[in-house]
Amino acid sequence: MKRQNMLSQMCWVVFVLFLMAGWGQTTYSEESAKFVSIPLGVTGGLREDNISSYLLAPKGSTDFIALDAGTLFAGLRQARILESFEEIELPPDSELMLEGVMMQQYIKAYLISHAHIDHVAGLVLNSPDDGKKDILGIASTIDNIRDHLFNWKVWPNFGDEGEGFQLKKYHYVRLTPGETVPINGTSMKVTPFLLSHSNYTSSAFLIEADGAYMLYFGDTGPDEVEKSDYMQQVWTYVAPLVRHQQLKGIFLEVSYPDERADNQLFGHLTPKWMLKELSVLANLVDSQHPETALRGLKVVVTHIKPSFVRDLPVDEKVLKQLYELNTLNVHFIIPEQGERLEF
Ligand SMILES: [Zn+2]
Ligand SMILES: [Zn+2]
Repeated sequence: MKRQNMLSQMCWVVFVLFLMAGWGQTTYSEESAKFVSIPLGVTGGLREDNISSYLLAPKGSTDFIALDAGTLFAGLRQARILESFEEIELPPDSELMLEGVMMQQYIKAYLISHAHIDHVAGLVLNSPDDGKKDILGIASTIDNIRDHLFNWKVWPNFGDEGEGFQLKKYHYVRLTPGETVPINGTSMKVTPFLLSHSNYTSSAFLIEADGAYMLYFGDTGPDEVEKSDYMQQVWTYVAPLVRHQQLKGIFLEVSYPDERADNQLFGHLTPKWMLKELSVLANLVDSQHPETALRGLKVVVTHIKPSFVRDLPVDEKVLKQLYELNTLNVHFIIPEQGERLEF
């Protein structure tokens, strides 16, 4: 009996120590989640069934937006198999499968970071079966989608501008950098920022819902390589949100492992550059203690490019390199297609 008491006491001590360890570890995890994200496509190429697209909704809401739309259907299918849509209830008499209901009813808008094919392929291919909604992006992105995709040459014109007869399924919304606007059909707002992606303009989106924020980057090179200050501008804008723990997560790309030479980046990041860019943010958040300024911040690592080479999988290599350099104690997440994330 006595021995049992001691055992149970020891269990309590271990339990309390465990709690305390968890408490000190991050400034973020103990809060209740504000956002849900379901990645529909996570790689930066090669996998035509799994390229850049992330669903996002305020937690508890069924109003999703798609951040980029490289892969839609294959990702929704995987999410259904993994039972990731906790908040969606399919009526038992529904003629549509969950994928169709998501496309036609619950995905309220597309936010496209740039018009490269790996960010819009799913949008084009699914458009005949899609529901009516807005496509939001900076002017150059919208113009490229209008002029080079939905133009009756590459694909029918499902837009409400441009070449020939307009099917008007999609309404184009041009976003002005730095200007915050509501996203139709949702309670979310977006503030866009320009990004330098080699000789191409890409963009980032800051999403707000009820005082909480998520930051999504399209493809981007590091400022130092791109001879730009676009990343710096984004970091400056969000630094106060990090300081007040309102920024719940960042989606940022790492396309290649560190072996890649700087002159071969083509407007992308490597683990080394990801950490350099995050340390710019850390210094803006707390110049006295940059080393602890981002502790526990969730960073979803997007756009890793798979390769044909029979080697260690590139995503494992990238994650290993990120953690070797992770003096900021950021919480890196390598997303899986269809697997629910909360922030
Ligand atoms: Zn790109
Ligand atoms: Zn891309």
